Amino acid sequence: MSRPSIRRVKEDLEYLQEAWPSLVALRVPGTARSWVENPRRAGMLSPEDQERLGKRGFQTPAPADIQVLDLIWSIANQARDIVECMVEVIDAGRDYVPAESSTRDPRPWLETARELIDAAQKIDEATLPWVACQIAPLVKQTAHLLGDFRDGQVLNGICPWCNGRGDGGMVGLRTMQLHYPDPDEEDDQPLVVCRGVNCDPPRGMVGMRWRGRPAWTRREWDWLAKMLRDPEAEPGVVEKVG
Ligand SMILES: [Zn+2]
Repeated sequence: MSRPSIRRVKEDLEYLQEAWPSLVALRVPGTARSWVENPRRAGMLSPEDQERLGKRGFQTPAPADIQVLDLIWSIANQARDIVECMVEVIDAGRDYVPAESSTRDPRPWLETARELIDAAQKIDEATLPWVACQIAPLVKQTAHLLGDFRDGQVLNGICPWCNGRGDGGMVGLRTMQLHYPDPDEEDDQPLVVCRGVNCDPPRGMVGMRWRGRPAWTRREWDWLAKMLRDPEAEPGVVEKVG
């Protein structure tokens, strides 16, 4: 895993904040997904874009294995822990503890965490990796439950050009990943990037490169989805866990 950036961690905190109402709505058994869908959560792929990539793009979420109540409880607890820890690091005193703080709604805590992280990181460099590590599983489970596809999401299909090549000669890995080049730039569009080792599709098969890696813009996704190999149709592919 690459080192977390402060921007990414702030985005993740913001995502948890924005996703909170939808998550809470899911507590009610049988709540239709359409009730809780909010198409404008930060850094999220639109339903049209998800459609373009089809089933070789992103797997339909199977949320049954995630307990909504546990997740809600964990987010609320972690948000408070993170702020309390940062306050301790920067010795900010109780002024920073959100006014309408409650154990039930973590949004003021998440907001405060975003405000304090720069100051805390300056004093203690361990802050960022620690916060990233604390929230990563929560973000992942929330996105999974709500069916949100975000930056870094791995595609289901296998790259036909490098054969999903990883380190040590492993093939059949899921090397295709969703990438948002710069969320602050409105014109920037999401890309699918292959992170396979030495992936080098022939000319005409790839429109651009991102940091030396082949990348495909949204316009090419319909086509790309047809090119990707279906991992289920290929028994014997090796895949590293994680
Ligand atoms: Zn590739």
